[in-house]
Amino acid sequence: MPLVTLKEILEDADRRGYAVGSFNMVSFGFLNGILEAAEEEKSPVILSIAEVHLPHMDIEQFAPVAIDSAKKSRVPVALHLDHGFHFDIVIKAIKWGFSSVMFDGSALSYEKNVENTSLLSKIVKAAGLSIEAELGRVGGSESGETNEADEKFFTDPELAEDFVKKTNIDALAVAVGNAHGFYRKKPKLDFDRIKKIKESCKVPLVLHGGSGISDEDFIMAIRMGISKINFFTGMTYAAVQRIKEFIKTDPKGYEWIALEAKNAIKEVVQDRMRVFGSSGRG
Ligand SMILES: [Zn+2]
Repeated sequence: MPLVTLKEILEDADRRGYAVGSFNMVSFGFLNGILEAAEEEKSPVILSIAEVHLPHMDIEQFAPVAIDSAKKSRVPVALHLDHGFHFDIVIKAIKWGFSSVMFDGSALSYEKNVENTSLLSKIVKAAGLSIEAELGRVGGSESGETNEADEKFFTDPELAEDFVKKTNIDALAVAVGNAHGFYRKKPKLDFDRIKKIKESCKVPLVLHGGSGISDEDFIMAIRMGISKINFFTGMTYAAVQRIKEFIKTDPKGYEWIALEAKNAIKEVVQDRMRVFGSSGRG
């Protein structure tokens, strides 16, 4: 199947009321685990690489393999730049062959966020890619450190309408009680706010910080208008737990550690796809 854009993959999810998982990769084990899960679940999937992880990977080596694997896959796959903060990185994603990007101007003033997002929106769309942007600010760090949401940075539904109109983006990341990394206390999502944002701006909405949100809350968030869910920390946690268990039961079986980690990632991704309702939609 060809690589698809974020817009294409989210259109069906938005119309039929499920969410597509966006799973971050930091090694080939992630790529294989996530794609195997998607194929077994017959689920569309978004493979993501975050700008903060680029210094730890050889993207010139990784991107062609990810694209080739996506094209050989039997399910729709998008290759997405997650949290692009810098213009040069977002532009490079076009060259690397990504099918979509996220520009994160959430730390900027509203006017500057609109200005930068609009400009990049024009450029990446002219190159045939989709674009996601963020309004409000999702708490925590993209590299997976513990943190929590702050209500003063929650997305304003009226501003969201204006933002989407001015920037012409394909998906909007919202701050509604979600945060990156491990949650210090149980997250409390503002479902009413999700509903209002969805009513005001219509584009598919994105929930970042998916590790630690309960299944019931995911289902409710999807019902209120979320169509893309970012998930990373839960995969790394599952891989580490599996390796610990494995070492305990087979202290000499080091050659299988990477495979065990990949299988743990695959299982947690499959489980999320079932909760997000994307299983069987690919
Ligand atoms: Zn994020």
